[in-house]
Amino acid sequence: MATELRVPTAEDHRFLGQPVGLATLFSTELWERFSYYGMRAILVLYLVAPTENGGLGMSTAEAVGIYGVYSAMVWLLAVPGGWLSDRLWGPRKTVLIGAFIIAGGHYVLAIPTSWAIWPGLACVALGTGFLKPNISAMVGGLYDEDSDEGERRDAGFSIYYMGINIGGFIAPFVCGYLGQEIGWHVGFAAAGIGMTVALLVYVLLAPRTLGPIGKRVPNPAERALLRKVFTITGVGLAICAILAIIDVALGTFDSKHVIWFLSAVTIATPFIYFTRIFRNKSLSPIEVSRMRAYIWIFVGAVMFWMIFDQGGSILNLFAENNTSRYIGDFQFPASWLQSVDPIGIIIFAPVFAYLWIKLGKRAPSLPAKFAIAIFLIGFSFFVMSYLGKVSSGGTLVAWEWLVLVFFIQVIAELLLSPTGLSASTQLAPRGMESQVLALWFLATAVGDAIGGLLAGLQEPLGNAGYFALLGLGAVIVAAIFATQVKKISKLMSGVH
Ligand code: GLN
Repeated sequence: MATELRVPTAEDHRFLGQPVGLATLFSTELWERFSYYGMRAILVLYLVAPTENGGLGMSTAEAVGIYGVYSAMVWLLAVPGGWLSDRLWGPRKTVLIGAFIIAGGHYVLAIPTSWAIWPGLACVALGTGFLKPNISAMVGGLYDEDSDEGERRDAGFSIYYMGINIGGFIAPFVCGYLGQEIGWHVGFAAAGIGMTVALLVYVLLAPRTLGPIGKRVPNPAERALLRKVFTITGVGLAICAILAIIDVALGTFDSKHVIWFLSAVTIATPFIYFTRIFRNKSLSPIEVSRMRAYIWIFVGAVMFWMIFDQGGSILNLFAENNTSRYIGDFQFPASWLQSVDPIGIIIFAPVFAYLWIKLGKRAPSLPAKFAIAIFLIGFSFFVMSYLGKVSSGGTLVAWEWLVLVFFIQVIAELLLSPTGLSASTQLAPRGMESQVLALWFLATAVGDAIGGLLAGLQEPLGNAGYFALLGLGAVIVAAIFATQVKKISKLMSGVH
């Protein structure tokens, strides 16, 4: 370890030209995403499957509501995850604790009972909130901030994003097959084994390859503050528990109450963040202007993720119920179509990277990219609406149609996701980078929560009407965005 500490990362090119620590973070995140997307590929299918097939027999509205609020929690809990890392444990330890909780969550889900779903999902969401923002922060920590490592850093992040999508690509084949063909809980156990691999990689390789990265607690909190935060959290959780107990005791408990409550908390959180940022008197006029632009970016991202993340819920159910999935004589499980998005990213990410370099200054601005991305995500739902109409009489549509829909979404994702992430760090006022990054994750949380609630309309409206309605919403937002491109660019004051 001592020798590793002496190797300055700028001179370390041992992993694809990158510091060797990237290999550790890349492999850990690959297996963590394997577990995350493997479980997600079968979650909604398990919730709606009839009890005689081992499922929970829920209605579509309830299942997609639970999926939506679970996904929202994953991103909302990145806020306390970031705070604990900043103020108490440091990234290295927070990731380790998160990894243990996630693995535990998947193994709880593997218990073949119907109650395991609640503690299991809670653990996966909590652990992911601890792990996800902090492992990305450690990737950033591999590069010297003030040397000329900018390009190498971008390349490092691209390699890391590939790791994420390799995990997301393999997972549905393994967990999806086992879950749908052998038994749901076997699929969840496979996700648990994936997370165990992530944990082992991290525990064995981090001490040897990361040196001091992520060990320092950036801004340690005083004992009094910690006590205050833990007391407030404890009291808050106790009040929630009491309300839930009263609800159960009165016999009025319904999973909708939990979904509505958590959705309301999720939607309220960014308001608190924005208010705090704008109330800060030390912001310069340029910083205030950039944060005004960020409101647009935030709203656009909410619209985007709201539709995009239904890929694992409503589109997954469509794949299961309304598509013909034969390759020759072999009928493949619906969850395998969840691999289309990650493989699309693996194929197209380098194409886009090349395109932006080639276009140079002629490349579209961030708000223009957002407008196109939101339009495309809306358009993908228009295609879904057409498929919904074709299949309404019980006709099965060819699975290749869904591949097309997912590929349209990949293009939209590549226009919006990396762009928004990097803009979040650039537009943030000085010293508020992590808060604005938290806002970026909160956009996904809010989108997923609203998406989960809206998805309840799929049953009453039918597929054709439901997809058309959401598609139309996105296209309207895209059109408004398009009229504001110049204004938003101006507000961004120099950030592209
Ligand atoms: N697909 C990416 C991941 O899993 C990004 C998700 C997001 O930012 N909402 O990390």
